[in-house]
Amino acid sequence: MELNKERLLELAHLLPGNGMHEDEIQQATKTMLQAFGEDPEREGLLRTPGRVARMYGELLAGYRVDPIAMVNEAVFEEEYDAMVVVRDIEFYSLCEHHMIPFIGRASVAYLADNRVIGLSKIPRIVDMFARRLQVQERMTHQIAEFLMELLQPRGVAVVVEGLHLCATMRGVKKHDARMTTSAMLGTFRTNLATREEFLANISRGTNPIL
Ligand SMILES: [Zn+2]
Repeated sequence: MELNKERLLELAHLLPGNGMHEDEIQQATKTMLQAFGEDPEREGLLRTPGRVARMYGELLAGYRVDPIAMVNEAVFEEEYDAMVVVRDIEFYSLCEHHMIPFIGRASVAYLADNRVIGLSKIPRIVDMFARRLQVQERMTHQIAEFLMELLQPRGVAVVVEGLHLCATMRGVKKHDARMTTSAMLGTFRTNLATREEFLANISRGTNPIL
């Protein structure tokens, strides 16, 4: 399978450098605790900076995934030209404006053109783009564009429903807290019937996020 690795790396939008500086995150967390007026030396908080630093390592791991290693063995030539839909993929991301979570579900479809991917990889791709500081619109497009390059299909569709804790927890704009974004590429953009088939598929019996 001939993948354009350079282009895929570009579309993965990774961060340069050797990874996160855990010691600096620890120090910054301690500084924040002090700025809150808290005592970082009290028992309950003593190990908090270390925990926070390790936690960000997980929550932001998507910046440093090797996308080629992730998908390489799972993309196949296959005589198949129908729609593949993977719906209700759970994701957890961090809003880049407030650095607290937005969570939800993504539904992804592609109209295959004789190249398919192992189904378990699509949630991994969603995860790669979710585990970063994000905005939902950008995440939606990044997933779609990555799949478009990877599978060279006739089209890709991504619909993301997200619940933004920065809105719900702060009690502002509650009606805006649940947001739906979509990216339609190729046939999903140009062909109404294709788009409607996908949207009908994902609207059947969806459970609420929370
Ligand atoms: Zn926010």
